[in-house]
Amino acid sequence: MHVGIVGGGISGLYSALMLRRQGITVTLFEATDRLGGRIYTYHFSPLSLGEDPYFEAGAMRIPCTSTHRSVFGLIEDLNRHSHDDMKLQLIPYIMEHENNMAFVSGKKRRANDVSLAAELGLPEKYCGRSAQDLLRIVIEPWVTLLRDNFEAGFENVLQYDEWSFRQYLHLVAQWPHEVIDFVEMMTSQTNQYNLSFIEVILQYLDFNTKEWVTIKGGMSRLIDAVASLVGVHNIHTNAPVKGIHTSPHGKVKLFIGGISPKAMIFDSVILAIPLSSLNNMLERPRWSFSKEQAISRTYYEPLYKMGLHFRSRFWEHSAQPCFGGQSTTDLRVRWVIYPSNDLGSNGSGVLLIYSWMTDAARWSAMQFEDRVELALHELGILFAGEDEALDVTQEFIEAFDISWSSHSSTGGCMYLPGQLSRFSVEAGRPEGNIYFAGEHLSRHHAWIAGAIDSASKTVKEMLLKSISSKL
Ligand SMILES: Cc1cc2nc3c(=O)[nH]c(=O)nc-3n(C[C@H](O)[C@H](O)[C@H](O)COP(=O)(O)OP(=O)(O)OC[C@H]3O[C@@H](n4cnc5c(N)ncnc54)[C@H](O)[C@@H]3O)c2cc1C
Repeated sequence: MHVGIVGGGISGLYSALMLRRQGITVTLFEATDRLGGRIYTYHFSPLSLGEDPYFEAGAMRIPCTSTHRSVFGLIEDLNRHSHDDMKLQLIPYIMEHENNMAFVSGKKRRANDVSLAAELGLPEKYCGRSAQDLLRIVIEPWVTLLRDNFEAGFENVLQYDEWSFRQYLHLVAQWPHEVIDFVEMMTSQTNQYNLSFIEVILQYLDFNTKEWVTIKGGMSRLIDAVASLVGVHNIHTNAPVKGIHTSPHGKVKLFIGGISPKAMIFDSVILAIPLSSLNNMLERPRWSFSKEQAISRTYYEPLYKMGLHFRSRFWEHSAQPCFGGQSTTDLRVRWVIYPSNDLGSNGSGVLLIYSWMTDAARWSAMQFEDRVELALHELGILFAGEDEALDVTQEFIEAFDISWSSHSSTGGCMYLPGQLSRFSVEAGRPEGNIYFAGEHLSRHHAWIAGAIDSASKTVKEMLLKSISSKL
């Protein structure tokens, strides 16, 4: 059996690894010159010998919860089978540091400031509590339900699939819209609560832990380790799959563009690409109406990240030094993430600004130079008062950013109300010998765990079908 795999993200690579271990021949095609997809560690040029300034333009942290056990399982497995230089070391990812502050309404304050609601003129009933406290009252019962028994809890959450989280807050919890806006601004990103109730609850479930890790040297080391076990000779980069044809006897032909265009025939194919990329493919079979709706309508939330390389880690030397964690602000930079790697080191450092949804979309509408200018301007406001002698622009060396919605049209799959019930089964259903994998086909959208779980399910399904067809 020869399996073609389209997509060199973690779901494609993990599928390839599992199949290779069953003695199956695989050929993987990745459209770009880089493996990893939404796992992407960007390295800046070092300022001095021995330093490696980097930031995560894609996935950056793994929650230490049972939901993400497949990622830890994969890391253990890779460490058992990889050469020493490929072994992965986990380091703590600091989600919160005691000095992390919020900058809202022109003032620096504690992230859980209980006076802010009154200052913003919210109804009295909601004053005297932080946004986090208000949110906790609503989501805690749901998170507990899912944490205690995920499957049973999920069935329960499904009753609200047709609802957005905002509708739930407004119509069930009876929150006025200004209270919803306040909590959304402080704990999430602009318009995030218009996503389906389920997506937002699952997201809070995933974020409901204090223990997080990341990979020393960058998350892309995970990709390098998997790719090296798959074997580089089985992987083609700069090889965008432009077309798919099926033949009456079940074989699948892929048309590969790029530097050396060609066609290849496979017994089976796994499409480990986002539905948005599949939607943009030149030529492919047309499937059922429902499947086509899933392909064209599944919502991908815009995500935006900019890494800014500075001469020093000035945030670790200010009046209230931040060793990891993040600041939240209503300025356009929204979240400023302090790196968890190389804490306290003397060299240069990278700050990360991160936004989702409408905040992310607004960044991508600007030119790169304007984005950098705005980011530096707002970081200047954030750090003013911390250290009077600090000039953020003087400290700045260079920046790199990614707006994921202009990159393979992705971001993170996040269903709109009703999409889970309509699309999740349909999108993953195999079509003859064409199979589907990726984070969008799991219950944990926009997580590495989701991509791995989906690949694992798809490969098992393919192997079972192959065994049963031989019986
Ligand atoms: C900004 C950001 C932050 C994130 N943070 C975290 C985090 O902290 N923790 C976490 O666990 N997860 C995080 N995630 C989510 C995680 O990165 C993804 O869920 C996961 O990497 C998706 O893997 P995938 O294989 O499903 O898809 P992808 O990684 O998107 O892989 C698909 C691949 O297919 C390729 N491709 C597309 N079309 C074609 C074609 N026609 N031919 C050939 N190749 C093609 C693409 O170039 C890409 O390489 C984050 C994602 C983003 C974008």
